[in-house]
Amino acid sequence: MSDDTTPAAKSRRNPSHVSHLTHLECTACKKRHDADRVMRLCPDCGKVLFARYDLEKARLTMTKEALALRPRGMWRWHEIMPVRGPHHIVSLGEGDTPLLPAPKLGDNIYIKEEGLCPTGSFKARGISAAISRAHELGVEVVAIPSAGNAASALAAYGARAGMRVHAFMPVDTPLLNQKECVVYGAHVTLVRGLISDCAGIVRKRADAEGWFDVSTLKEPYRAEGKKTMGLELAEQFGWSLPDVVVYPTGGGTGIVGMWKAWDELEAMGLIGSKRPRMISVQAEGCAPIVRAFEQNLDHAPPWENANTRAAGLRVPGAVADYLILKAIRDSGGTALAVSEDEIAAALRELAAREGIFAAPEGAATWAAAKKLYARGVLRWSESVVLFNTGTGLKYPDFVDVNLDVVDP
Ligand SMILES: *Cc1c(COP(=O)(O)O)cnc(C)c1O
Ligand SMILES: [Zn+2]
Repeated sequence: MSDDTTPAAKSRRNPSHVSHLTHLECTACKKRHDADRVMRLCPDCGKVLFARYDLEKARLTMTKEALALRPRGMWRWHEIMPVRGPHHIVSLGEGDTPLLPAPKLGDNIYIKEEGLCPTGSFKARGISAAISRAHELGVEVVAIPSAGNAASALAAYGARAGMRVHAFMPVDTPLLNQKECVVYGAHVTLVRGLISDCAGIVRKRADAEGWFDVSTLKEPYRAEGKKTMGLELAEQFGWSLPDVVVYPTGGGTGIVGMWKAWDELEAMGLIGSKRPRMISVQAEGCAPIVRAFEQNLDHAPPWENANTRAAGLRVPGAVADYLILKAIRDSGGTALAVSEDEIAAALRELAAREGIFAAPEGAATWAAAKKLYARGVLRWSESVVLFNTGTGLKYPDFVDVNLDVVDP
């Protein structure tokens, strides 16, 4: 990397960096797999693989005190992150986002502000982890089907890693995402269809073209990046956890990743057994997880004709559906859908009352929370974290304004 004189780069070369990654484990058949080979889904059953660590070793150095003194960013959790050699870390300063109180929404409401991540969304976390580990394992060309923000992040981190990036996006993906990818030097293909159609193309071409497919949860490390949101929440709540987490769910990487993070922290003695109720929010025009939750299913059948302007929520089928549904149920949480109008109204409220211009996906969490307070599912005395997963600045067309023009 060209900037190896910066303090962050120096800290990455810090010999105290160590990862206690031991193996990959299938979340369904539980079979163990080698972590030091390029892997995607479980070769035996096709389900999601999790990275596993020697937590007994990790706990010796990953103390609350040590963590507090480390340079900011998601890589300070290196003992339970997948990259072995610190020089392989591809970072743009992701992680350690603020937890902002939102007193005008409610006394115990907090917003985890992911809009400050590089490329404007929390996709940066997952992609930093996946690209870093892929770099370490010798991958040179990556491909992704994306609703927008994942492609932007992959294009940026891929550029920084010196990899070639192929991004496949629906033709109606927010224009800014398309432009970002081009600026970062990615090969962009627009597809007349949904993210699932993009995924189909990548799946078909990846082997023949020698691309590594970084689709969410189809490789083990994006979830490791997103799990750092759960690690940060624990630390930001003084090594306990909030009562409720409201999360806008597309592929569900954040829910799955945070749920895993808390199990790891508990195993290391850093938190207790209390977990937040996980509230999964989707858009009425694409709500496969909500429907499966309501019908008591373990898997979520794909949603037909998915349609919402909250691009990150337009995911008709999630590979990790069974993990998302289990986390929601085990936590005593729920899943609910909100309408486009409710999202738009919530977005304006967040901006005008709290100064937070949220992505529509992030605004959906406030729209959902309002409904749940009204139904008594949420109580005003509980600590509630809303995830603003991206900045509203990336969706210039989402808000319509009518302004008067005057002559001087
Ligand atoms: C991708 C995305 C989501 C959905 O995230 P998952 O963890 O895949 O469910 C939500 N909000 C924004 C802004 C996104 O880009
Ligand atoms: Zn398996």
